[in-house]
Amino acid sequence: MSNKIKYWFVVGSQGLYGDDALQQVKNNAEKMVETLNESGKFPYEIILHQSLATSADTITKIMKDANYHDEVQGVITWMHTFSPAKMWIRGTALLQKPLLHLVTQFHEDIPWDTIDMDYMNLHQSAHGDREYGYINSRLKKNNKVVVGFWQNEDVQQKIADWMNVAYAYNESFNIKVARFGDNMRNVAVTDGDKIEAQIQLGWVVDYYAIGDLTAVVNQVTEKEVESLFEEYKTLYELDYKNYDKEDFDSSVKEQIKYEIAIKKFLDEGGYTAFTTNFEDLYGMKQLPGLAVQRLNEQGYGFAGEGDWKTAALDRLLKIMSGNSSTGFMEDYTYNLTNGSEQILGSHMLEVDPTLAATKPKIVVNPLGIGGKEDPARLVFDGKSGDGVVVTISDMGTHFKMLVNEITAHTPETEAPNLPVARVLWEVSPNFKDGVYKWIKEGGGHHTVLSLSLSIDQIETFAEMMDLEYKVIR
Ligand code: MN
Repeated sequence: MSNKIKYWFVVGSQGLYGDDALQQVKNNAEKMVETLNESGKFPYEIILHQSLATSADTITKIMKDANYHDEVQGVITWMHTFSPAKMWIRGTALLQKPLLHLVTQFHEDIPWDTIDMDYMNLHQSAHGDREYGYINSRLKKNNKVVVGFWQNEDVQQKIADWMNVAYAYNESFNIKVARFGDNMRNVAVTDGDKIEAQIQLGWVVDYYAIGDLTAVVNQVTEKEVESLFEEYKTLYELDYKNYDKEDFDSSVKEQIKYEIAIKKFLDEGGYTAFTTNFEDLYGMKQLPGLAVQRLNEQGYGFAGEGDWKTAALDRLLKIMSGNSSTGFMEDYTYNLTNGSEQILGSHMLEVDPTLAATKPKIVVNPLGIGGKEDPARLVFDGKSGDGVVVTISDMGTHFKMLVNEITAHTPETEAPNLPVARVLWEVSPNFKDGVYKWIKEGGGHHTVLSLSLSIDQIETFAEMMDLEYKVIR
């Protein structure tokens, strides 16, 4: 994360109250921004805009400036006093960055012993918030509204959460997905309109033949492979099981070649997410498994079977969460035990190690599908915690985002014959209603699972994007 990223803090008022009052407004705003930055609660710096928003011309200029300053990820507004909202129409309409209306007041309590009309005129956020909020609502700005005393932890947390969402929103327009091969034959939900995805979400989705990648794989040197293999030995347990050491090592080294080649390919093309398809591996000895997991750990988005929507979403949510406990997931198998119904999530190989509760071990095992050599993969049990599963479905006329609140549990029972990483969770509000709604709404089998992001953040993102969404909780 860069210290170049900034959020502007813009304070609404008007000229009616005189210079002394406006000076007081400015002093209070300075105090507020200074205190917020010093709290250590925010991932990025808040900058107080030096122009008070007291006229239409000033407000329009501030918002136009916010648009073309690339380091500005969003604008936070605060109505210290009343600020007539016709002044805000042009600037607000022109603003192309996320907007947060902080509904708060400088002092926490009403000072009953001393309050007079001067005090009320200076501290009339309740009045100003309604005037300003009306115009945002009428302009369909889909802005975030955070309500409460600005020094309270919950208010600060909401602002911090919004900052991470706003940053991801801006970065969404820089996401480029490389598809190695097309979508899996016959599969419906992973397909969709790539042009619409670029128009609406900013995602560039490019196709490459698997041969374009194997050409890079073939350039990887023995020295590069050996050096990374040594690193693997310090990071992971190598679980040889019944494998001959030579066969095992050679399988792992094949994945190391893929890791180096895919990373090189992506970085050279400016791609931050990718897809593979086990049906399209001509010239590859294995399906990339361990290689994908290693790249996930480094923050690259991914989804299997050519699912570019989920790959881009994975990258997006990794940006939003700082690549913490967030990764590509597939709803695989139900546990229907009455009263403790759960979903077991996993994939053929590619489960994201940022979700690991246990130290991953490298396992080589045959892959029942695809007819390739036995691929190496990282095997681990998933973390516990509250979080979300998110997906995007193309409904033909528009995209729909679905998000379900979940609680993950680290599996307690061994599964000695399962050669993949596993994540186990319960859905909200309960198994039957949660699963029913997901299926009725057309939610897919591929998701991004995050134990770092909240429903509120996903909802905020969908609103910023003006995306249809359904929340299941
Ligand atoms: Mn899949």
